[in-house]
Amino acid sequence: MRPQYTNVTPQIIDDIITLMGKNSVFIDAIDREAYAMDETALLDPVMPDIVVKPSDTAAVARLLAYADSHVIPVTPRGAGTGLSGGVLPVYGGIVLSMERMNQILEIDTNNFTATVEPGVALSDLCAAVEAQGLYYPLHPGEMSASIGGNIATNAGGMNAVKYGVTRHHVLGLEAVLADGTVINTGGKYVKSASGYDLTQLLIGSEGTLAVITKIILKLSTKQANREILFVPFMDLQNAVDSVPDILRLPLLPTGLEFMEKDIIDIIERYTGRVMPCHDHKAFLMIIMEGNSIDAVTDYFAQVDTICRRYGSSEAVIPGSEHAKRELIESREKFYVALKKYAPLELMDVVVPRSQIALFLKKVKEISHEYNIPAVAYGHAGDGNIHLHFVCTTMSLDEWKRKLPSLLNAVYTTGISLGGTVSGEHGIGLEKIEYLAGHIDTGLLRMMKRIKHSFDPHNILNPGKLIDLG
Ligand SMILES: Cc1cc2nc3c(=O)[nH]c(=O)nc-3n(C[C@H](O)[C@H](O)[C@H](O)COP(=O)(O)OP(=O)(O)OC[C@H]3O[C@@H](n4cnc5c(N)ncnc54)[C@H](O)[C@@H]3O)c2cc1C
Repeated sequence: MRPQYTNVTPQIIDDIITLMGKNSVFIDAIDREAYAMDETALLDPVMPDIVVKPSDTAAVARLLAYADSHVIPVTPRGAGTGLSGGVLPVYGGIVLSMERMNQILEIDTNNFTATVEPGVALSDLCAAVEAQGLYYPLHPGEMSASIGGNIATNAGGMNAVKYGVTRHHVLGLEAVLADGTVINTGGKYVKSASGYDLTQLLIGSEGTLAVITKIILKLSTKQANREILFVPFMDLQNAVDSVPDILRLPLLPTGLEFMEKDIIDIIERYTGRVMPCHDHKAFLMIIMEGNSIDAVTDYFAQVDTICRRYGSSEAVIPGSEHAKRELIESREKFYVALKKYAPLELMDVVVPRSQIALFLKKVKEISHEYNIPAVAYGHAGDGNIHLHFVCTTMSLDEWKRKLPSLLNAVYTTGISLGGTVSGEHGIGLEKIEYLAGHIDTGLLRMMKRIKHSFDPHNILNPGKLIDLG
């Protein structure tokens, strides 16, 4: 059922200009067009009626109070790098772009915290923190993403094996509720037993519960050495089978990625670079940090011994900073290269690490049954598998017809193995029915109640995460 929203009339636009100031409000089609999409493949753009770019929390609060009292949908937006259609304003209304709230307010070198506005780019945060001798260790693949977007999606990325995901690095938030109330959660402390933990509830809520306007992040110190071991195998199964043994070593790697030959071929074509050992069928990429090169080399020797037991060939350690950077960059560009290669659907199912091999085996069977190739790679160290079902064997129409049933079969398989629908990209618009179809009905009911108590008129990012219909 389509929610009943107020249309954005010329009178409403005038009111919003009065509230926010003329320079913060954009109504021309050419200005709105850039806010109709994110990085998700194959979604049709949806134009907002109006784009608003506030500069401070008070302005966000004024806008939400107005939108709530007039029942106008508001879609918060960070940098628009999301991969689940989370920023598409599916019911029109206002896109609330946080891009002007992009100040790093403080880096506190005694408490190891950074206090930032949500529009700060992840790359800018990392650079500023490192300039102070500290470290923000998360590495979700797209460094132009905003910190607000990272928090709203609970972004993960390559370093999650050692450092966890975004929620493990957030100490406090300032957020504006749907009716314009400003709340502050947490603070510059690491322990709290003081009531419900709304910081954690808002993380991963994809703009459906509140607009995040300030963030206190936990920082750490950086280890001196960061190296990569690239291990080739002749068989994917052997590569992923070696992962539990690698993780049983006393030291945890920072990242542990797997990839197959087909994505290596695609990335080589895209970048024009030759990847190491590219004649092999599957690869593990292990990232390790340590306080001395000897400690890292010693760890890699242990990993190599394990991988050899599973049939690996000679592993490669890139010798220069440039070679390391190229390898990481190639990994970061997989999605962009795949988008160029063929129409595709991206899934980011997560399963218990011990089930990766079985899950991938079953995915291959499903892919074979539907005659739709699956390109698989991902975060082997945390069980988060990126699957791309590409349209290379049939017409686009036929592929689109078959896709929902194929996706359903893959989600059902992942969940039957103890996994869940999304490990890091979020539910957004794309996976809403799959979440609803695959989680406990009591849990879904509870999520709807929480949404209703935060946002009774359903103005915040409606049509995302859960269907209230
Ligand atoms: C090439 C590429 C690689 C990627 N690799 C990874 C990866 O490894 N790991 C990973 O986790 N993600 C990855 N992503 C996905 C994406 O970068 C993340 O989802 C990121 O967190 C989105 O941030 P953003 O600022 O672009 O948010 P947007 O796309 O603008 O928004 C995402 C969601 O957050 C909400 N939102 C944004 N800001 C706020 C706010 N201030 N308050 C409330 N809600 C808000 C939006 O409403 C939307 O629901 C990748 C994307 C690309 C294009």
